[in-house]
Amino acid sequence: MVSKIAFLFSIGLFSINLSSFASEMNHTISTCKVDQGGMEEGAEAQYLCAAQADRLSNDGLRSKWRWYQCAKSYSEDQRQLSDQNEIELQGIFEDYEHLFPILMPQEAIQNFYADTKKSFVVHFRDSFKNFPRPDFFRLRNINGKFINPINPINKMTGSMRYVGFFSAQYAYDIEYANNALIHKVRIHFKNPQVSQTQNDLQDFRLKIQEAQEIWNETPAKEAFQKEFGLDFNTRFQFEVVTDPRLAHFSVAIADTTRGPYFSEWARNWTPVAIAHEIGHMLGLGDEYQTVSGKDDCLDQSLMCQSWRGELMYHNYYHVLKRLF
Ligand SMILES: [Zn+2]
Repeated sequence: MVSKIAFLFSIGLFSINLSSFASEMNHTISTCKVDQGGMEEGAEAQYLCAAQADRLSNDGLRSKWRWYQCAKSYSEDQRQLSDQNEIELQGIFEDYEHLFPILMPQEAIQNFYADTKKSFVVHFRDSFKNFPRPDFFRLRNINGKFINPINPINKMTGSMRYVGFFSAQYAYDIEYANNALIHKVRIHFKNPQVSQTQNDLQDFRLKIQEAQEIWNETPAKEAFQKEFGLDFNTRFQFEVVTDPRLAHFSVAIADTTRGPYFSEWARNWTPVAIAHEIGHMLGLGDEYQTVSGKDDCLDQSLMCQSWRGELMYHNYYHVLKRLF
């Protein structure tokens, strides 16, 4: 996700780091800026590589160097990557076009065809390669291991394409109870602060609770259930845990950050932003490609706009389809 302002702010932070490594990286990042003050699309992944390199201590120089090379390669091959990406996405779209009018709102297809297509197509880059029609979503078709009463809790792991380029992991538990498949994500915070003015764990618990409500109570969830006649219920349960061994993700806390979701969270994220980040933990990729303000995805979608987006059919579809 991520606030464009926070993004520009973090680039600024690079420039006050005096190590030559960081200044080289800073140079790499600045080469991505285009005339309009925006960024080319490879810049997203490049930024993540650079941020990851910056985060690693000098003890891990080899790894740090690898990440730096990764950032550099994005800068050099940006145009090529972008073209390649377009071709790849078009191929995916042709493979799954039959699901397009089923999962995306007719009105959006008519009025914002290209954006709607973009929001639709990115989620097929999931390591879980089965994409049944949603009317196949029946209890009798669910993979037996997920509805086994003797072993009701199962792990779901895989990878998806984060910010368009980056292969990133998702992980959560599926628990079957009372005809409902509960999707559970447990998050651990590495450095929570408590002071007179702030209590990180308490604050994140509240926001995560709200994010859980967004996932459970957005009208699209019930509408999806009804329209496709699902004969089971689904719930989402997000929890803060204090033991990292129980967590799917263990993340650090910063005042502001762009993430990535699996390593750093910001105190200034809103519950909607957190619902978007947990969307990544549940295996949904970002729908946007640029940080230039020219977002090429459907504005109303949570995985396109993390500040005001909402959950849509295609989001639920891509999480639930892994049960089959
Ligand atoms: Zn995101």
